Amino acid sequence: MALAMPSFDLAFIGFGAAAMSLIMRLEPSYKGRIAIIEPRELPQNDQTWCGWPLTQHAFSDHATRRWPRWAVSHRGKEVVRNGQYAYEMLSASGVQTISLQAAQRRTDWQLFKGSSLKSASFGNNQWALELNTGEKFHADYVLDSRPPSIHIQRPWLWQSFVGREVIGKFDSDPNTVRIMDFIPSSSALVTFVYELPLTANHRLVEITQFTPTPANTDTLNTLLDEQLSLRGLSTATIHRQEQGHLPMQPIASYHHQQWLKIGTAGGSMRPATGYAFHAIQTWADQCAEGILTGKGPTAPQRRRLMDWLDGVFLESLWQAPEQAPDRFMRLFERTAPDSLIRFLMGQPKAEDLLSVMSALPVRPLLKAALIRGLKTT
Ligand SMILES: Cc1cc2nc3c(=O)[nH]c(=O)nc-3n(C[C@H](O)[C@H](O)[C@H](O)COP(=O)(O)OP(=O)(O)OC[C@H]3O[C@@H](n4cnc5c(N)ncnc54)[C@H](O)[C@@H]3O)c2cc1C
Repeated sequence: MALAMPSFDLAFIGFGAAAMSLIMRLEPSYKGRIAIIEPRELPQNDQTWCGWPLTQHAFSDHATRRWPRWAVSHRGKEVVRNGQYAYEMLSASGVQTISLQAAQRRTDWQLFKGSSLKSASFGNNQWALELNTGEKFHADYVLDSRPPSIHIQRPWLWQSFVGREVIGKFDSDPNTVRIMDFIPSSSALVTFVYELPLTANHRLVEITQFTPTPANTDTLNTLLDEQLSLRGLSTATIHRQEQGHLPMQPIASYHHQQWLKIGTAGGSMRPATGYAFHAIQTWADQCAEGILTGKGPTAPQRRRLMDWLDGVFLESLWQAPEQAPDRFMRLFERTAPDSLIRFLMGQPKAEDLLSVMSALPVRPLLKAALIRGLKTT
């Protein structure tokens, strides 16, 4: 006699930022059964998540560091800002550890470690899933965070970066995050150094480029070597490295036949910034509420106005990349800090939008807006 396949209410494909954020909210009270499929061995100390949280979230108590000030600089000029929101950093290993603990507290949930999805078919209002390990089960809803395959066209861009956590001697203020220190480079529309002081002598230093196609990692590493050398850190001890290519493009919301895309794959990333982690927290709150009240999970929602603004802004960078550092400097210098932060984190009030728009030069934006028309993709 064949045994019936196990059945779950929700199946997560991938246990990354989005899945972990929702699991943290469901673990205390959700009555349903959950399956989690993750190919990697966790936890891994392979990345950090940073941004300005506008409210408390499920991982707030586990932040590695918070900084009260942030700076942007270009050609020796520096703009330093602060406001009601602090810039925060979370380590992937910390977030993964507490999320794994939460998942494992639920003995009625199942974590399929070292597994990936082999096939899926829909019938009788359920998904039948088969893993590469041969295991099979049913799920009412599938929440899929596998990386999307993406083809990027103007005005959208890739954000490519390599970073190293280094231990050495630093002169700069350990309480100020250097968000963008622009450097000239012919290999990208925009190139800057991002520097996060973890302690007085321990920093994460990254080279970031906005490029039409993903930047060459060797080129980025060479640029990073140069910048570390300029800072007198060419022989500094490397504690950890990270790298990535983020799609600065709106990704459409997907919810079809009880299959939802979540996280970056579902459109949680802000095109003009590459920030996603804190938007994922907002989505996880809404999605958990839907699940806990019996309405079912919800996909991340896009805001058309924000996509349109991001498209116009990036089109204006394509038109005059040499002006990009000055545009960002103006933005940070002329916009009230709290307004800019709410805008960057994707939750501006009407007055924040006005403040941001009035900080930028009118003509290039108007020209970019005429080219873009009403397009948001
Ligand atoms: C190095 C790096 C640094 C970043 N820093 C920031 C930051 O500072 N601030 C910020 O806001 N955003 C940042 N981002 C962007 C974004 O927040 C992250 O990419 C975030 O992890 C996205 O969450 P996610 O759940 O969509 O994807 P992920 O966290 O990448 O999770 C996807 C999961 O799917 C799994 N998977 C892949 N293939 C399969 C498969 N076939 N079957 C099953 N599972 C699979 C992966 O192993 C992974 O666990 C960063 C991205 C990177 C890559």
